[in-house]
Amino acid sequence: MPEIDLDATAHEHAAHLRAGDYTARALAEATLARVQAQEPALNAYITLTEERALAQADAADVRLRAGESGPLIGVPIAIKDLLCTRGVRTTAGSHMLEPFVPFYDATVVARLDAAGAVTVGKANLDEFAMGSSTEFSAFGPTHNPWDLDRVPGGSSGGSAATVAARGVPLSIGTDTGGSIRQPAALCGILGLKPTYGRVSRFGVVAFASSLEQVGPFGRDAEDVARLLGVIAGPDERDATTAPMPVPDYTADFGRGLGGLRVGVPQQFLDRGLGPGVGEAIEQAIAVFEREGAIIDRSVTLPSADAALAVYYLIAPSEASANLARYDGVKYGFSYHEGGSVEEDMAETRGRGFGSEVKRRIMLGTYALSTGYYDAYYLKAQRVRTTISREFDAAFADHDLILTPTSPTTAFRLGEKLSDPYAMYLNDLFTIPVNIGGNPAISVPAGFAEGLPVGLHLIGRHFEEGTLLRAAHAYATLTDWHMRRPPATPAS
Ligand code: GLN
Repeated sequence: MPEIDLDATAHEHAAHLRAGDYTARALAEATLARVQAQEPALNAYITLTEERALAQADAADVRLRAGESGPLIGVPIAIKDLLCTRGVRTTAGSHMLEPFVPFYDATVVARLDAAGAVTVGKANLDEFAMGSSTEFSAFGPTHNPWDLDRVPGGSSGGSAATVAARGVPLSIGTDTGGSIRQPAALCGILGLKPTYGRVSRFGVVAFASSLEQVGPFGRDAEDVARLLGVIAGPDERDATTAPMPVPDYTADFGRGLGGLRVGVPQQFLDRGLGPGVGEAIEQAIAVFEREGAIIDRSVTLPSADAALAVYYLIAPSEASANLARYDGVKYGFSYHEGGSVEEDMAETRGRGFGSEVKRRIMLGTYALSTGYYDAYYLKAQRVRTTISREFDAAFADHDLILTPTSPTTAFRLGEKLSDPYAMYLNDLFTIPVNIGGNPAISVPAGFAEGLPVGLHLIGRHFEEGTLLRAAHAYATLTDWHMRRPPATPAS
């Protein structure tokens, strides 16, 4: 029997499992051992789910022996601890939900289970997915496998770090303003935010419902495409899912970059990029051009510059409503000290939520209050519409828009903690995409000062296939996605 190579991609594992080279059980055991060995350095998980993983692996082995094939049967995966898992606590990275054990699975979790995936654990995140560094987790920060003194990005930092460290080949994140793409960039892997409405949000702990989507992380485009194919599609439990069939997202993989019309908005490249980031992106653009893509640097998205302001009104407004449910009565943490109902409720919220979450609730409550609603929330919604229309106009004669994923590479732990605005600026390039509801992917595009840089490709609504075609072609030509971080133990 060949040795299990834990650095393999999901599709490589799937082929070995089908061929009977090793069992799903053996793969699960080896994966759990590596993940456990890496945890002291990374803290990528809030909860490891060994029992669930081994039971799923045994079930996968039965299916494999019966000759079933599928891209995820027996393949290990990590799930951001924002998605409900039946019988497994789901914390959202918050003290507020520390004791919360859901009695149902999120639709995405149920689909992964039905597809035969093996859930290794619930990955660390910023509290309620609010943040860009995973430092706002109530369970301690995750560390970047490229440099353990640096952040992995966020909010899906645990999901990104464990894939980058070769703990698991695949993981699931969520992206409200960049939380899949930015950690993918900072950890040197691929991460895709699907079109709004492409993937069910049922069973995902809500932050800003009109902006967020669940999406895949992986180490090559094929894995990301296959995982998206499993989780995407309409869901009768989420009325915002689009009633559209799910295509084969690898269908255009042979087509290369030739003929793609790529808009490069100069405004994004002039925005104070960190050392080496602009150079890496220019080199990526040169690869696209050499391979026959048509680069257009005249495209502009004038209102995208207002996207951050729009986001920090709309997202906190929705958060203030969504988080009103945590009152110490219905879910999770509850504080009683014999006070009045109101006093206990206030204490529960005061002690249960961290500082960034409180900041968002206050911002949102303010923006929605009488007298300020028109001036802030309504105006933000109007600008949101303008930003969406500008994207639509740009996509009338472009197939892709290309930017850096993040203005900088991974920053040091603690560096931006005391400056919320500096933290918010991380998402300068990713947030406009959530405002427009478009799909986008981050692909490894080289290194600056030894740290990964991400290339950000944005597409038309429901054209994830084009993003993946380009990501596959670019990654195959450059091989940046094959680089392995040095900082974590291998087994
Ligand atoms: N960093 C952004 C925020 O803090 C985006 C988070 C996300 O995408 N969930 O809101």
